[in-house]
Amino acid sequence: MKNIRNFCIIAHIDHGKSTLADRLLEHTKTINERQMQAQVLDDMDLEREKGITIKSHAIQMDYELNGEKYTLNLIDTPGHVDFSYEVSRALAACEGALLLVDAAQGIQAQTISNLYLALDNDLEIIPVINKIDMDGAMIEVVKDQIIELIGVKEEEILLASGKTGIGIEEILQAIVARIPAPKGEPDAPLQALIFDSVFNSFRGIIAYFRVFNGKIKKGDKVRFVNTGEDYEADEVGILKLGLQARSEVNTGDVGYIITGIKNAKEVKVGDTITLSQNPCKVAIQGFEEVKPMVFAGIFPVVTEDFEELRDCMDKLQLNDASLTFETETSQALGFGFRCGFLGMLHMEIIQERLEREFKQTVITTVPNVSFIAYTTRDEKVIVNNPSEMPDPSKIDRIEEPFIRAQIITSPDYIGNIMTLCLGKRGMLINQSYLTPTRVELIFEMPLAEIVFDFYDKLKSSTRGYASFDYHPLDYRISDIVRMDILLNGDKVDALSALIHRSRAEDFGRKLCLKLKELLPRQQFMIAIQAAVGSKIIARETISAMRKDVTAKCYGGDISRKRKLLEKQKEGKKRMRQIGNVEVPQEAFLAVLKLN
Ligand code: GDP
Ligand code: MG
Repeated sequence: MKNIRNFCIIAHIDHGKSTLADRLLEHTKTINERQMQAQVLDDMDLEREKGITIKSHAIQMDYELNGEKYTLNLIDTPGHVDFSYEVSRALAACEGALLLVDAAQGIQAQTISNLYLALDNDLEIIPVINKIDMDGAMIEVVKDQIIELIGVKEEEILLASGKTGIGIEEILQAIVARIPAPKGEPDAPLQALIFDSVFNSFRGIIAYFRVFNGKIKKGDKVRFVNTGEDYEADEVGILKLGLQARSEVNTGDVGYIITGIKNAKEVKVGDTITLSQNPCKVAIQGFEEVKPMVFAGIFPVVTEDFEELRDCMDKLQLNDASLTFETETSQALGFGFRCGFLGMLHMEIIQERLEREFKQTVITTVPNVSFIAYTTRDEKVIVNNPSEMPDPSKIDRIEEPFIRAQIITSPDYIGNIMTLCLGKRGMLINQSYLTPTRVELIFEMPLAEIVFDFYDKLKSSTRGYASFDYHPLDYRISDIVRMDILLNGDKVDALSALIHRSRAEDFGRKLCLKLKELLPRQQFMIAIQAAVGSKIIARETISAMRKDVTAKCYGGDISRKRKLLEKQKEGKKRMRQIGNVEVPQEAFLAVLKLN
């Protein structure tokens, strides 16, 4: 155990984590260059054929220093804020972290948020300035930033390039010298932390764990403490380039377990594995159920495809336990699913996977966050869907989720960012200079305001010179209303939105205008209205089309007329009927196209 080191690499996106990891694997001869390429190709073929997600979540390297042999476990962390809970569990499996900072970019928002996560888990931090081969490398400036941020000494900062291989040996030596060996009791009851899991269509769920106490053997009866379920350890082993089965995995080490579980929901990141016979007294702390943050409806484009879509959603959930869904009926769109996502990125990934891996074309409705409504009888109603909002006359108050947003930028853009964030109902909580040219702004803001287009707006108002990160904070009382869209007086439920009262009118006006563009003219006039309760807040009109299309045919040429009708029927398939108005699919996505 004294020669084991468990570590992860943390960095802002694109600061070179993956590239550096490749160099470490090469340098320790875990993978040679040729093998690496060959293997990657094999994996991709397999991935294409079998639909297996292949990603190294942890990998073990052998390293020798001064005649001592060391086992280094590199644990990979998901990069995006949507998955920050998983990041924190992966960090909990380590004793140390390489903190990479791009020499040309300097410290960015996720550098800081990842650093805080690592410090929360008491990790030893090894700061590395990466990409020093670049022309724009500002080594001295970035050094100062790092010293300022974590209070290390200058000589503790390593310089590296994942591209050219500079500094790789120094990094490995620092891992051995500075990161503590794992502690733990080999003879105590088993306690292993699940930090990640993957779905393999042949073998079921493969869970990755770090053993804190005791050991786990093939054939053991194991218990997942938080779910309370018992399983048999069909296979355990360590992680090299692939899985390597072993008879046991010991205290301090990182490994995998296969139990034949097929459903990702049964394996929860953060859960503790112990033995059914001799269970540990307490679970490893910090376990949380991941909660969805953003909700939206997903409907099949063709109503008849609902069952097929359900099948695909089930399969997708086997693979991604953080996706939640239940059936939902919409008058406008028929049967579909109300889905919960960890964030907008997660929602995009799910939609993309449905389309790419499952060949489903779907309509996604207006995303919203989860609100809490308290009725006048003091009942608490969780509102994940506009249709769940109680009647306004029965609502005492509504609460909405707030986040803490952290933005790092150049002082030149403070003004623009203030305008943007205050316009999004944000409050500035703190402003501090990391260096004379980098400032960190902390805002508290409603989650609902950053869900749609905040990140794009931030980028455009700072010409890309701002990085952004956020974390959930709490729920606060807020004046939220449901805005409905009516077409010739009929409500289109799939276009309803939950929105702050101060935003409703502007939003309603833009949406009506957009719908006016997207709805085809018909034989009669169409009134498009936005309403809050019974109050109309915006209105547009589409005038009637004058001529009957079939009039051109003079009644003479029957076959031409039939063709025309057939064509119209085809077109109608891609339309949904709301009252007497035909609505094309893209109109349901209008909300996402507002500017
Ligand atoms: P990650 O998002 O942190 O995993 O970053 P990647 O490893 O994917 O690298 C992001 C980009 O930076 C890629 O285009 C890499 O080729 C490039 N890159 C990574 N390391 C270096 C380096 O040391 N020097 C230079 N010049 N480019 C690098
Ligand atoms: Mg990467």
